[in-house]
Amino acid sequence: MGSPSTPGRLTVISGPSGVGKGTLVDALLQRHPSLWLSVSATTRTPRPGEIDGVTYRFLDRERFETQVQAGGFLEWAKFAGNLYGTPRGPVEEHLAQGHPVLLEIELEGARQVRRSFPAGFQVFIKPPSFEELERRIRGRGTELEEAIQRRLARAHQELEAETEFDAVLVNGDLEQAISSLEALLNLG
Ligand code: 5GP
Repeated sequence: MGSPSTPGRLTVISGPSGVGKGTLVDALLQRHPSLWLSVSATTRTPRPGEIDGVTYRFLDRERFETQVQAGGFLEWAKFAGNLYGTPRGPVEEHLAQGHPVLLEIELEGARQVRRSFPAGFQVFIKPPSFEELERRIRGRGTELEEAIQRRLARAHQELEAETEFDAVLVNGDLEQAISSLEALLNLG
């Protein structure tokens, strides 16, 4: 389990759906190939272009729950009607090898990781405004109205939790946000 003596560094990137966490993390990985991003498991249906094992490991609910029972997740949470979890093994292996590890997860998961990895670093990404967040979620065009409403309701709750995090970053201008994240994570 994680402890302050864990050789690698564990960084959690969290923030509401639609805030652009994925885009930020992708840019960071491109620029800093030594970073390793955990591939989460989810019961959500793949969006067009998403590849099993790359974007997510897509599992049916039964297989996801079997993994939960087996203690296979470092953290897991229900989000907008689906289950999401971080497979434990690969994260522990990368940390043991001294690699910096990134998790891109929602609030409940971030809270669980905070308990198991108190030495980890947690960054909260927030939008310039709630209206902008709604525009981004709708602009993605991948969710039905009901799912959009669930994500917006959840976003309100998540935005209230920013003070729990080690650092807060506004994702307005992407380039600026990438530079700020690099500075926060001490990436040259
Ligand atoms: P999406 O369905 O838009 O890909 O993801 C929905 C939310 O689930 C996002 O906030 C994303 O960061 C979060 N998420 C993705 N993977 C995980 C995970 O392994 N654990 C938790 N707790 N949240 C995750």
